[in-house]
Amino acid sequence: MDMLIGGKHISSDDLEEVINPYNDEVIDTVPIAHRQTADLAIDEANKAKSALVEMSAFKVSNKLFNVVEKLKDNREDFAELLTLEVGKPINESLVELDRSIETLKLAAEEAKRIYGESVPLDAGLNGKGFFAFTQRLPLGVVAAITPFNYPLNLTIHKIAPAIACKNTVIIKPPTEAPLTVMKFAELLNDEFPDGVVNTITGYGSEVGDYLVCSPNVDKISFTGSITTGMMISQKAGMKKVTLELGGNDPMVVLKDADIEKAVKGVINGAFLNAGQVCMGVKRIIIEEEIADEFAEKLVSETEKLVMGNPLDKTTTLGTLISKKAAMQVEETVNNAVEDGAKILTGGVRRDAFYEATVIDNVKPDMDLVVRETFGPVAPIIRVNGLDEAIEVANGTEYGLQAGVFTNDYSKAMRCVQEIEAGTVFVNKQSTFRTDNMPFGGFKSSGVGKEGIKYSVEEMTKTKLIGLNLR
Ligand code: NAD
Repeated sequence: MDMLIGGKHISSDDLEEVINPYNDEVIDTVPIAHRQTADLAIDEANKAKSALVEMSAFKVSNKLFNVVEKLKDNREDFAELLTLEVGKPINESLVELDRSIETLKLAAEEAKRIYGESVPLDAGLNGKGFFAFTQRLPLGVVAAITPFNYPLNLTIHKIAPAIACKNTVIIKPPTEAPLTVMKFAELLNDEFPDGVVNTITGYGSEVGDYLVCSPNVDKISFTGSITTGMMISQKAGMKKVTLELGGNDPMVVLKDADIEKAVKGVINGAFLNAGQVCMGVKRIIIEEEIADEFAEKLVSETEKLVMGNPLDKTTTLGTLISKKAAMQVEETVNNAVEDGAKILTGGVRRDAFYEATVIDNVKPDMDLVVRETFGPVAPIIRVNGLDEAIEVANGTEYGLQAGVFTNDYSKAMRCVQEIEAGTVFVNKQSTFRTDNMPFGGFKSSGVGKEGIKYSVEEMTKTKLIGLNLR
């Protein structure tokens, strides 16, 4: 598939193969762009700014709604392509499509709600006699840099609100899974003037970095790992940056919790997309008194998962993004076992597959839970009491989301207040998001919020206009 720049299809002499992680077959190739092409994309995106700004909010909204309809019409095709390039079960890809449609719809609605406010300057010293109001204006060019695990919905979370508030966009899709995003960009391009939507493929360290450093890009909206995010924040200079980074989400299960509910939360939270979810359940922090019963029930439910061809509708556990990624998970789990952790079920890798794994006796200082393990692993950390549970929950550099299972209102409130995370759910695992909610982590998990309305805030600048009526 070619890149889309200024409404034209652009290729390159160098091509990268996009591989299906399930069978190693080449699905397609994409260009490996270099800096010159990134410059072209930046140029075209800048040239298209005025055409978009001149468009009424009414028209922008309607055009986004038109794309909603087109995406709905092509839902199955998009889902199949997503499964081929990511290796996630087809049913999960269909859910990503439904969420993508919803995200786009929210942006189409938000396009009509880009309000300023009147400001009472007379509340300040010497402000009497003014009439003042604010306007929210587009920043200009937004670069969207996105990861492989939810490539379509996470890209739409950036480009749809960006366009809703009249920014042009350059998309740098994930290297491993660029196709679904590039196909979607074509749908948008059919509705908007040339140059409003541009895609550029190639290596993050080259074209991604070039976009980050360019003075002619006004905002970087990035989702990906902490390592890349840190680099971006150091290089972006004066431009606005939103960073949605890694997670290592705790699930705190207290002794009065509904164990079945918590077990279901782990199944839905730790194994979704083969554990490659930023807000996945990565650490089960459980009171010793109920840990044995919980572990037994969790093992029994985990063993019901069906690993297989991701295109098969009965498959509930697909591959990881690559064999290399699966090997990394295997190594991390094996190291934990060497240090005294115990695998209760799973723990075996086959090519890019890694079995759904429950691992007990995990200590908070093991690499498995100190860093984000991006695979289908449910580590159990046994604790004594609420204080220790909260201390362990807060004991990493991450702070994306968290879930607490308890029926004790006062204990739930202590967790809600003391766990350092962008979201804390009670009696729900961290792996839950509606696409309108403010989403974004504390600590190293990120800077800024997404969720259409909140993205619009981060993709506009406020101008004050004051009329002197004295
Ligand atoms: P990654 O950081 O390796 O890559 C993300 C994107 O950044 C890719 O498009 C990549 O090509 C690009 N990139 C790489 N180096 C770059 C550079 N020097 N400059 C600019 N761009 C560069 O992440 P990944 O492995 O694709 O995704 C997994 C990570 O993403 C996990 O840590 C996961 O938790 C995180 N994630 C976070 C959220 C969230 O909303 N907080 C959502 C999904 C995934």
